[in-house]
Amino acid sequence: MATLVSHPDEVRIVSKRFGQGATKIDRYLELDGYKAVRKALGMQPDAIINEVKNSGLRGRGGAGFNTGLKWSFVPKQSVKPKYILCNGDESEPGTCKDRLIFEEDPHSVIEGVIIAGLAVGASSGYIYIRGEYRYLLEIMQKAIADAYAKGFLGKNIFGSGRDFEVYWHGGAGAYEVGEESALMESLEGKRGVPRIRPPFPAVVGLWGGPTVINNAETLASVPPIILAGAEWFANLGTPKNGGTRLFCLSGHVNKPGVYELPMGYNLKKMIYEVGGGIPNGRKLKAVVPGGSSCPLLTAEEIDLPMDFDTLMKAGSMLGSGGVVMVDDSTCMVKFALRIMKFYQHESCGWCIPCREGTDWLDKTLTRFHSGGGIRKDIDNIQYLSENMLGRTFCPLGDAAALPTISIVKKFRKEFEDHLEGRPCPFEKKGTVEQLPVFA
Ligand code: SF4
Repeated sequence: MATLVSHPDEVRIVSKRFGQGATKIDRYLELDGYKAVRKALGMQPDAIINEVKNSGLRGRGGAGFNTGLKWSFVPKQSVKPKYILCNGDESEPGTCKDRLIFEEDPHSVIEGVIIAGLAVGASSGYIYIRGEYRYLLEIMQKAIADAYAKGFLGKNIFGSGRDFEVYWHGGAGAYEVGEESALMESLEGKRGVPRIRPPFPAVVGLWGGPTVINNAETLASVPPIILAGAEWFANLGTPKNGGTRLFCLSGHVNKPGVYELPMGYNLKKMIYEVGGGIPNGRKLKAVVPGGSSCPLLTAEEIDLPMDFDTLMKAGSMLGSGGVVMVDDSTCMVKFALRIMKFYQHESCGWCIPCREGTDWLDKTLTRFHSGGGIRKDIDNIQYLSENMLGRTFCPLGDAAALPTISIVKKFRKEFEDHLEGRPCPFEKKGTVEQLPVFA
């Protein structure tokens, strides 16, 4: 079970029931649970969509697309059933917030799924939970069963005359399935590889029906918006970046944990005040601002508001909220290698630039870090990464390339130092097996 942390700057919206026993449905009801869905049942679908659109809620899985706008793409009429799919396949290294929502407040996700269903005219929802989060399945299973027992799911929900079914599904442990079309393939019982798009899921999704796919935090943000209104939520954040965000602080930081802070919260303040700074008197060297697929920021680039647009302008991404601190004892070549090993392992092998590119980069970085590098490798690592960008079937290729490009660009000297101080100037002699120089 996760340890809960807190800080006075937090604005608890999605996390307001954490630590309050809200996995029990009666406790959830005491804490305003299922009030939003009752309200939504009395609203027109377009009014629900507009409320969410105007709130400035943007997808918390990483893409940052306006949620209400995404819902508005679902056709009003459809011969096929429509579906809501909650993406709880949280696999991005550095990100562990959906896990807490499922663990502490599973009904908020169910409520968000029902409201999304009312907005687009769907009568079934699926909650897909990451394979490695197996223990959370029991929590979600129980929450769904309790909601059925109360008449909040199934036939005639809340006595409204409307029906809504919710199903849970456990993944098998593949990062790739976090990509929405691969998620649908997996849910349909097939190998989790992406689909060709267009058509997009809003039009042709699960079993060919129009489908809304939202991240778990996104859906858990919907009930408070319906209850308190779009304006309230929008005003919590910055223009076009409404509300709060669960930021997962990890790595070299004194107080790691998941903190709910307003969108636009200053990153430097987040690291030094909320996170308590860097341990052992060390200095900050770099920050991964939104999960391992984001370009890194250097210690000099952290005085900025954490919202989607600012991070984009700064050449990085807000991503999935995983903020990883890297101190000055860290070898950035090894850091790049560690990230690449993850993506090489997770590549589904479908397209060549990702399958071959991650493998070449893994091998080159391994050899380079182990003292077998040559100067030309540095440009080759950059060149290979740049040639993966935008040339792969799904974003995993970019996810592998972007942090690597930023590390070579911003920490090139560390690569050059490896040529002088073989095998690695950051690690004690004898701790890294030195490979022969590649020539
Ligand atoms: Fe598979 Fe990688 Fe291609 Fe995505 S980019 S489809 S993970 S090979």
